[in-house]
Amino acid sequence: MRKSLGLIALSLAGLSISASAQQPAKPLYVLEDSYLRWRLLPEEQAYLSIDGKHLKQYVEGQTAISRRYRDHGHPQFWGRISGTEADAENAQWLLDNFRKIGLSDVHEQPLDLPPQWVPESWSVAASAGGKTVTLESAQPTSTSPGTPQGGLDLEAVDVALASEGDLAGRDLHGKAVFFYSADYTSRQAPISDYAIKRIGERGAAAIFVIVGLPGNLKTQFYPVGSTVPTFSLGLQDGNAIRDLIGKSRGGQPARVKIRLDVKNVPNLKTATVWGSLPGTSDESIFVVAHRDAWFEGATDNASGVATMLGLAEYFAKIPKEQRRRTIYFLGTSGHHDNSGMTGHWLAGHKELFARTALIINCEHTSAEQLVYRGGSIRRSNTTVPLRWYVGGSAKLEQIAVRAYDMFGVATYAQPEPAAGGEMAPYYQLAPSLQLIEGNLYWHSDRETADYVPPTGLAASTRAYAKIITDVNQLDLKDLQRPPAKQVQR
Ligand SMILES: [Zn+2]
Repeated sequence: MRKSLGLIALSLAGLSISASAQQPAKPLYVLEDSYLRWRLLPEEQAYLSIDGKHLKQYVEGQTAISRRYRDHGHPQFWGRISGTEADAENAQWLLDNFRKIGLSDVHEQPLDLPPQWVPESWSVAASAGGKTVTLESAQPTSTSPGTPQGGLDLEAVDVALASEGDLAGRDLHGKAVFFYSADYTSRQAPISDYAIKRIGERGAAAIFVIVGLPGNLKTQFYPVGSTVPTFSLGLQDGNAIRDLIGKSRGGQPARVKIRLDVKNVPNLKTATVWGSLPGTSDESIFVVAHRDAWFEGATDNASGVATMLGLAEYFAKIPKEQRRRTIYFLGTSGHHDNSGMTGHWLAGHKELFARTALIINCEHTSAEQLVYRGGSIRRSNTTVPLRWYVGGSAKLEQIAVRAYDMFGVATYAQPEPAAGGEMAPYYQLAPSLQLIEGNLYWHSDRETADYVPPTGLAASTRAYAKIITDVNQLDLKDLQRPPAKQVQR
């Protein structure tokens, strides 16, 4: 008896240990100052002038623009959104910084936007058995159609993971359909193996994807190709609605009231922000970073813009006579609105790249590694490994690999076969490369400057500076893609 009681006590103690292990203990260091950093060899010390904490201030300058826009009458759909006053403020901010750094020919190239999808306001509330829950975290997927005036009042159903098996035999016609996704980092149509498409084909009147990350994150999705109002939902709200649906089973079904006012606004403008550092030849290097963002967009893409500014500062200090090629710096309009105005303009001006040694796309250059463990998201003292693309000669590939190694840029083990993101429309017009990655908070209201390690900004930016320096030792013909690789299959 005594023995078995002892065993019970022991197993209870074990339980409490595993439960408390999910909650972190008191921190022993200040995270912002303690991210892992690479120690540089004496011959690499020239790059120490690229300082991560300084670059982080550029990240904070941009996230502040987003918050100002949010706090001036745009509490639901906000960020550095193309065509809005946040876009204009952000362009002006970048022009000011380019001038402060001493770039030449600093100017704005205005671009007309196609009609822009603007979700002006929305609300989602579910009720069953006399209980009503407001789903605060609901965020319409980009380009989602709105509801009719007066909104929708629909029966709510839960289809679990929305696999073929979950959907088999279910009548979804005219219903609000909720599904749970463990595809945490997707903000795109392929989430959960195209579940949104499968549900839409079965006649749903509204679709909700519950993003299975702990907390109640608001996430902004790219267009998902749905023809009915479609939203993402945080896990807390997702659990609440699934409970409501579950408890009402067999009785009066749960219902959901949805209102989404969407406007298509014509005649808006955006811009490419240009600056340059003249070199001593007619050859060029392009450094680009997209300016637009959803929410605070600290990694996507305040980090990339900060990296571009860090490169501008570094090369502005090098005397013109020592700069072999003109470096163009471009704050591009971006692609979150699905228009990619700068990208398409550049793609249509191939002549600009006729004597270009390299295009570097600065996009998502630093993000803290977050770990989903034991039901919560844990922070860490390091950066996420970055996806990377490099397209050019074998020499260029080796220059990139060496630079990432030199400054401690963690990467995926294998590069990507093509450059996605902002550079996608034109990356094949010259030798080009990029590092790009977010973390679990990508495209969410948690993607704040707090999660952008200065060490990651320093590492990526130093590596790019070293790459530009090394590339300038080589002639164009030694950098260009071998002909066989130009054929994309
Ligand atoms: Zn981006």
